[in-house]
Amino acid sequence: MAAVFLDPGHGGTEPGAVTADGKREADGNLRLALILAPMLLAAGHSVRLSREEDVMLSLSERVKRAWEWGTDLLISLHIDGAGSPAPSGHHVIHSITDKRGERGDRLAWLLVRGIADATGRPPFARSGGPVWTRRSLVLPWLDYHSVIRHAIQRGIEAPVIVERGFVSNPDDARLLFDDEYLIMQAGGIVMAVDQYEIP
Ligand SMILES: [Zn+2]
Repeated sequence: MAAVFLDPGHGGTEPGAVTADGKREADGNLRLALILAPMLLAAGHSVRLSREEDVMLSLSERVKRAWEWGTDLLISLHIDGAGSPAPSGHHVIHSITDKRGERGDRLAWLLVRGIADATGRPPFARSGGPVWTRRSLVLPWLDYHSVIRHAIQRGIEAPVIVERGFVSNPDDARLLFDDEYLIMQAGGIVMAVDQYEIP
């Protein structure tokens, strides 16, 4: 059983990506987290959320809350956006850091497969694959994504960012704000957490 910290990205004055008809990523992320939390609890995991309402929080504050609680896994929930409607599907970012990076890689693949199995929708056909990392250009020994970088600095195992689809793709934009679909997506995340063994 894992201690899972869920971080619904954005909130408050920070909408995140926005669909063509004005739906905010921040709200979609929170909706999924509120559906997912009781499902993880029912599966025997312990769960904490970075936010339970529509408020803005800095990335370092989110990670501080996770660290203070003593989490095993930090799953940051996001929706991607692209310049064209073609890209669709989910993808997962984990840390570059050696030992922890390996662990993040394992969780990231479980999440990609779990969501694909549970929703019946394939992951994003990224050229490098749906699981990836990004190095800071300025400080190449650190992660580019702040939430992952802060989490690694705090010693949190396996921080990941789940990009759940694209606001710029009409099918994704509709599904990612549909409770029935979110329940399936949450089911895929529960499967991944269930299968992830804490070292
Ligand atoms: Zn986001």
